[in-house]
Amino acid sequence: MSKNVFQKIIDREIPAAIVFEDDLVLAFRDNNPKAPVHVLIVPKKNIPRLADAQPDDHKLLGHLLLKAAAVAAQLGLAKTGYRLVINNGPDAGESVPHLHCHILGGRALAWPPG
Ligand code: AMP
Repeated sequence: MSKNVFQKIIDREIPAAIVFEDDLVLAFRDNNPKAPVHVLIVPKKNIPRLADAQPDDHKLLGHLLLKAAAVAAQLGLAKTGYRLVINNGPDAGESVPHLHCHILGGRALAWPPG
């Protein structure tokens, strides 16, 4: 099966502006940013989308969220705030079939999303 773009970034087959990595997750800057700070944090495990996560992924999903908050703080967003977004499926606009959490900040974000 061919690798998607995030698997290629994880495997260092294509470049990315990496801001955090540990044994379970990788965070890198979105290459088409929608806010002054726009980072994606992904599990290294290949889970296509949130709906495909299994009960035994619960520790990994908790780790992903905790590290998203840590990365947001690392990028200076702790005081001003930030939004985490997980797009699941076509109506949400999911375009890469590898679970990823957007970290968006650096400006006031509108709500509800379009
Ligand atoms: P989604 O629409 O939720 O699937 O988000 C996918 C995101 O991946 C989009 O915001 C894209 O701009 C971003 N993206 C796609 N390819 C790359 C890449 N090579 N490096 C960094 N971000 C990427």
